[in-house]
Amino acid sequence: MAGGRRELLERLLAELPGVDLDPATVRGHQLPLSTQAVRQPDGRVLLVGDAAGLVNPITGEGIFYAALSGAAAGEAALRGAAAGMTHRAALRRLFGVHHRHTAVLARCAQSSRFVDATIAATARSQHAFDSLVELGLGRGTADPLTLAAVLADYLAGLRPRAASHLG
Ligand SMILES: Cc1cc2nc3c(=O)[nH]c(=O)nc-3n(C[C@H](O)[C@H](O)[C@H](O)COP(=O)(O)OP(=O)(O)OC[C@H]3O[C@@H](n4cnc5c(N)ncnc54)[C@H](O)[C@@H]3O)c2cc1C
Repeated sequence: MAGGRRELLERLLAELPGVDLDPATVRGHQLPLSTQAVRQPDGRVLLVGDAAGLVNPITGEGIFYAALSGAAAGEAALRGAAAGMTHRAALRRLFGVHHRHTAVLARCAQSSRFVDATIAATARSQHAFDSLVELGLGRGTADPLTLAAVLADYLAGLRPRAASHLG
């Protein structure tokens, strides 16, 4: 927000009329994205959801990852002192590839041209749409067909600019 904290407070009060808000108590906090590594330690303490840093870096979604890692922690807890090691392996198995792909795509999504190309690709292709929903809300990975569709739109978006530059 261009207006910073002042604008945030004004908008909060506009969205929540009648709420007795003490501005001094309003604080911001970053979502624990999966791009920040949180290592599950050995032992009996099991990290799940936000504590494990599992929020999707593209969409900010964290509920699915909290529920799934919670279920995995329930199973790992049966292993006693080996619970931490078991849970660490389960998290890697459940989210390892997904995290690597979303980390790369989150960096790509900082380019508005890439985002435009992705939206165009999903409008044309149901497959691209479905696979991006899985990436943003589930455990999906970037598949070659979808990447090709996004790349085609990305390159198509470059063409008019190149032509006008030459012209
Ligand atoms: C503004 C906002 C919007 C979001 N929107 C979405 C969305 O649309 N979709 C989505 O999927 N995700 C969304 N998320 C992310 C999602 O809310 C979290 O990723 C998810 O709730 C994480 O679940 P969790 O169980 O790990 O943690 P939490 O839901 O934070 O649960 C942790 C609980 O532990 C309690 N607690 C903390 N310390 C102690 C203590 N010492 N003793 C006892 N209890 C304690 C807390 O009060 C809290 O109830 C959003 C997050 C924010 C901040």
